[in-house]
Amino acid sequence: MAPILFDLGVMPVGKYCDLACQGCFQREKNKNSFLASKSEVVCLLEDFGFSQCFIGGGEPLLHDNLEKILQGLSKRFFVRYLLTHGFGLANHLYLGDYVETIVVSIDPMHKKAMERKYGGVLYPSDILSSIDNYGFRKNIRINSVVCNTNEMPFFHKLAQYIARSKNVKGWNIYRNTNSKISDKEYLRIVAEINDSYGLDFQVEPKIPSEKFIQILIFSDLSVESYSFNASGKLVEIDLENLALFQSKEEFLGEIGRLHGKTGAFSQIYSREGK
Ligand code: SF4
Repeated sequence: MAPILFDLGVMPVGKYCDLACQGCFQREKNKNSFLASKSEVVCLLEDFGFSQCFIGGGEPLLHDNLEKILQGLSKRFFVRYLLTHGFGLANHLYLGDYVETIVVSIDPMHKKAMERKYGGVLYPSDILSSIDNYGFRKNIRINSVVCNTNEMPFFHKLAQYIARSKNVKGWNIYRNTNSKISDKEYLRIVAEINDSYGLDFQVEPKIPSEKFIQILIFSDLSVESYSFNASGKLVEIDLENLALFQSKEEFLGEIGRLHGKTGAFSQIYSREGK
């Protein structure tokens, strides 16, 4: 039986974000759960035997001292990627020293929220200029979410920018599972982008999988986890305290049980399997 894939995210600013994208369940207005550089979370995850993670949020670039956090984390973990909305990215050139891939969310939902928050921003050209002009040494990947077919002009324009970019090395397009866009329409949009531009890579469609669980760890040791059930609905399970578990196996086993999934767990990506 295929193992259940999981992805483990550490949340340096919890769900704190300065944008308010419509429908986002991560945004939070309070800066109350910033990760400290000597954190129990990191020690616990290492004791459990985790060796890789991603950095999520909220917006991690809003941490007061993200570089110090990444310095510490990257000594113990392979930090596969960091997720950001990209505003102010040029002030964080150090990211390339600690993170394998910088994943920038660019889509119509972020455009609306960013223009509302930062009047005058040229979107997405300002974000793409930061990515290119400042020469990040690491890979940049774009993540987009598509909600409806009316967004096609935006994605065509974005594809033109990405085709000219030196640093963008990948682009994933997700279907908003709460929107009315059908799988067929979504796959047609992805195929149209792949057929129309000379990108150096294939844009990858991402279909929700029942065999995947995303696990998010917060600085107060609380845990959130997300999966899709058989009808494609998002399931969220929260746990209060990571420290109540004795081992990685016990922790993952409980998460799997609560999501109604059985079988062995495997982290979604390993350096060895690259
Ligand atoms: S930028 Fe990301 S975390 Fe912030 S509100 Fe938008 S979707 Fe949510």
